[in-house]
Amino acid sequence: MSSAPAPSTPPAPLEELYQSVILDHNRRPRNYREMEVADARAEGKNPNCGDKVIVWLKLDQGTVADVSFKVPPGEGCAISRASASIMTTAIKGKRVDEAEALFDRFITMLTGPRTPAADLPADTPELGPLAVFSGVSRFPHRVKCATMAWHALHSALREAVASTPSE
Ligand code: ZN
Repeated sequence: MSSAPAPSTPPAPLEELYQSVILDHNRRPRNYREMEVADARAEGKNPNCGDKVIVWLKLDQGTVADVSFKVPPGEGCAISRASASIMTTAIKGKRVDEAEALFDRFITMLTGPRTPAADLPADTPELGPLAVFSGVSRFPHRVKCATMAWHALHSALREAVASTPSE
């Protein structure tokens, strides 16, 4: 008889798409500017790769009113720049607690158990475009490239909240 073995998961063709999203954000980073009036400014460093990033944050009533970043010339690889760029688009307009939740999810995705993109829980829609970085977890020495901007954001969020008491 021809009983089929357990169906195997088809290979994720998304990897290439993810690549192109990352390359696009690297070439044309969003929210790539210095912010003159910000509630917080934080720097991130990844000595392993030589990456640096500066993140600016502005809150309005507990919501991320504006967020931007810059990379010192020649001090950011494609992964780190794209990660910072996509991060800014993901958290703009989010409440502080939502931004912190995204930070947690992103860090867990990259530093937790290896989870192929196809196996990500269906109830994580908020990760959205951020899921393109799930493949980075397979390259441990690149994980910090992707998480650097988020750690800077995390610091900036805490600083901004402390400096702009709301309610
Ligand atoms: Zn890097």
